[in-house]
Amino acid sequence: MELCTYKIVITGTVQGVGFRPFIYALAQRYLLTGTVSNNSKGVEIHLNTDSLTFKQFLTAVEYEYPPLSSIDTIEYEEMAYQLFNDFQIIKTQEKGDVTVNIPPDVSICSACEKELFDSSNRRYGYPFITCTHCGVRYSIIYDLPYDRVRTSMKFFEMCKVCEAEYINPLDRRYHAQPIGCWDCGPALELRAKSEALRMNQNEIVDKTVEFLREGKILAVKGIGGYHLMCDATNEEAVKMLRERKHRPSKPFAVMVKDLDMAKSFADINEKEEALLSSKERPIVLLNAKHVAFNAQIAPHLSRIGLFLPYTPLHLLLLNKLNRPLLATSANITDEPICTNIESLQKLNKVYDYVLDHNREIVNGCDDSVVMVIKDQQVMLRRARGYAPVSIKLPFTLKQNILAMGANQKSTVAIGFDDQVILSPHIGDLDSIGSVEYYKKNIDTLERMYDFKAEVLAHDKHPNYESTKVAQQLKVKNEKLKMKSVQHHYAHILGVMAEKGLTGKVFGVAFDGTGYGDDGTLWGGEFLVCDYESYERVAHINYFKLLGGAKAIKEPRRVALSLLFDVYGEEALYLENPTIKSFSKVELRTYFVSWKKGLNAPLSSSVGRLFDAVSSLLGICHVMSFEGESGMMLEELYDSSVVEHYSFGYENGKIDLLPMLAEILAESNTTVSVSKFFHTLVEMIAVVYAPYCLPLVLSGGVFQNRVLLELVFERFPYAIISNAIPPNDGGIALGQVVGIASGNINF
Ligand code: ZN
Ligand code: ZN
Ligand code: FE
Repeated sequence: MELCTYKIVITGTVQGVGFRPFIYALAQRYLLTGTVSNNSKGVEIHLNTDSLTFKQFLTAVEYEYPPLSSIDTIEYEEMAYQLFNDFQIIKTQEKGDVTVNIPPDVSICSACEKELFDSSNRRYGYPFITCTHCGVRYSIIYDLPYDRVRTSMKFFEMCKVCEAEYINPLDRRYHAQPIGCWDCGPALELRAKSEALRMNQNEIVDKTVEFLREGKILAVKGIGGYHLMCDATNEEAVKMLRERKHRPSKPFAVMVKDLDMAKSFADINEKEEALLSSKERPIVLLNAKHVAFNAQIAPHLSRIGLFLPYTPLHLLLLNKLNRPLLATSANITDEPICTNIESLQKLNKVYDYVLDHNREIVNGCDDSVVMVIKDQQVMLRRARGYAPVSIKLPFTLKQNILAMGANQKSTVAIGFDDQVILSPHIGDLDSIGSVEYYKKNIDTLERMYDFKAEVLAHDKHPNYESTKVAQQLKVKNEKLKMKSVQHHYAHILGVMAEKGLTGKVFGVAFDGTGYGDDGTLWGGEFLVCDYESYERVAHINYFKLLGGAKAIKEPRRVALSLLFDVYGEEALYLENPTIKSFSKVELRTYFVSWKKGLNAPLSSSVGRLFDAVSSLLGICHVMSFEGESGMMLEELYDSSVVEHYSFGYENGKIDLLPMLAEILAESNTTVSVSKFFHTLVEMIAVVYAPYCLPLVLSGGVFQNRVLLELVFERFPYAIISNAIPPNDGGIALGQVVGIASGNINF
């Protein structure tokens, strides 16, 4: 057969994931000559072969590509014949060929896990064992292209044996940037507060496990930051951690040894099992089995967040300990996750020991959190394992857009061509430290992608830290344009962009609070929209948030305000748990502020409505963590109740007062809670009825499992995002497409 030269370009996640050696090995298999190299789009291959073998080669590429890679497109053409004597991997050039996708950090692969526990292997028990198919990536990268010299592995000079693996295209560790071994790679250190305990490397894991068994609290350095860990079965240790961390009831995540151990603590379906053991290894929220155990880990809740070990170090610890390990991000309230020993020091009253190591964490990254509702993945926190991954848009952007996100559960995004790169979860911008971390995340994305923003997309809220940072950037560079996108419109747009929806949709944004076009705090919105514009066709009628921001943490303030709405001054004399939670003086003061509208901004937020209902029923008056009231209501839902309360709906406004009066007349709490859930679904049904458009759901309230399940039961075709969170973590993606209108080519 006639020999020709073919040029193939493969795009997708194909760099830094062992793609070139994979092609090299394939070329060896088919005895082909040519080259493979990285270019700015992906991987470029030149091959000398006949058309039949070429087809076989392509099929092999499509079916056998390496585990961490994914292929978007394969394009090829026949070229003038070129002579090659052998097959070669051509080295990555500096700059000019910036990788399209930064590979995320993923869990240890099965081959490495096997070697870790194989006493004959030279890396037996080595806590940093890794290969081309697993381990750290994003968290150690300073810059692109992804090469060891631009990662925090540059401080470790490979030994001869590691180097031989690194340069052998047929080895599993060919060009695996983070590889090392006992002789040359990163090492552990066990510290008591500030000073290191003297011991050999191979004794450290044993000693750590001994401390855990004794009920000590340890800070353990992981991939994207430190965890605080203790034996989850040790009641005293868990209690001590709660006290030291001032975290009385917020649920903790638990790392379990394996799926079997996971199944002893939770009911797990197929989809949840797949997520637990996926290479991303997120925390998965599950139905807890073990009541007494759950009472300490997630007080008053029937759900538990479990995850499997994702680093060799975790595997070593859990295999020795053989008990579930409480593992929560080490951070000070409102601050980002601690990524170095200096920032960790601030927590030295919380932990007893530190299990540290000397591989620098360049980019911090929290654990991801997901749940499964009606067989759909719902992302609650998108971080390690998933981030930063690009999202393909259904259109091309004409300008480079930097989206600033919101203020809570913040993320940022950069948009160029037909893609958006979304940062990992950054956190709430409530402290100087977290704003600094937020800015660092922007710098990182801009640097890695060689990205220069032309437009800044930001939230309409003038007081969001993210808006203020946008203003600072504008001061530095006057050419930058600033454009705002309404919060709930951005919520719906985020889902549309992820799902590639291009027509008009009917969006339901049930949310905490977001700045509305009229300056009030929206959050119960029904929007008919496309990428160009939106119309607010209906909303929850406004109520007053007594005390402004304070009302967000105190459900009873919202409840009181609604009681005033129903009964006026007479509310003061009601026999009701909300009223009882205030002193007489407070009640008077709040009545005046309600009446005069002093420090009582208007809101249509469904999130706040959840709060109000939980206080009216005496379930939760003051929250110790965000979302607590909604979680408590989930617990009380009884599926045998199917009725809903009444509400008014006129001129696009939903009147809550009939529902509130009925709730107050109800004597059974479970019935009240259940009917409340059904009322929300009924509201969607009534408002949505006249529209023949796709139904899109977004906003933090849709993290509520019961509500989301009920909505899916009623509208099985409803669309929610799967890759980005329904909460404010998805806002940045929506902002990118929100300001692109008029600038986009379909
Ligand atoms: Zn591996
Ligand atoms: Zn080595
Ligand atoms: Fe929101």
